[in-house]
Amino acid sequence: MNPAPEYPDYIIHFDRKFRGGYRLGVTRENRVEIIIGDRKNENQEFAEGLIRKHRRFVNRRLRLNEARGSREIPPEPDRRTALRKLTPIFEAITQEMGMPLWKLTVRRANTRWGSCSHHTRRIMLNLRAAQLPPELTRYLIVHELAHIHHRGHGPDFWTLVERFDPEYKRHRKILREEYGALL
Ligand SMILES: [Zn+2]
Repeated sequence: MNPAPEYPDYIIHFDRKFRGGYRLGVTRENRVEIIIGDRKNENQEFAEGLIRKHRRFVNRRLRLNEARGSREIPPEPDRRTALRKLTPIFEAITQEMGMPLWKLTVRRANTRWGSCSHHTRRIMLNLRAAQLPPELTRYLIVHELAHIHHRGHGPDFWTLVERFDPEYKRHRKILREEYGALL
């Protein structure tokens, strides 16, 4: 017999914009928020089904909240400070990878460490990237520059990343598991 599953605290909202769909998130207060686009799914059974379906994601967010609570999270650096710290590293890596024309932008972002815009030839890094250990900053920059050649995360993409960061697998894991709370 299965023990009764345990559910975190959750709340259901109805929003007609989510016609036929739903969105599930976890707040910093450890509450699962579910937006549902179909009135007939606005019920406990549906919500708990979604929590079961996305259990791994929910647990991961809950663990991140725990990490946030137990560790002092430093305040975000300002743009100038972040640029001053990241620019020399960025420039060294663009030289190394043969992409000297690419420029760096830093900005505040809540959900991602970086992105790459072919249109403006710019790599965007999260302000928080300036607070990472140098090997993780390097991994991030290599990752974003590798997207210039390969848009997705296919085998060719990772081969290129590995050429400039042989320990990328470890770096990626640490970034996700230990620094995810900074985002
Ligand atoms: Zn990527």
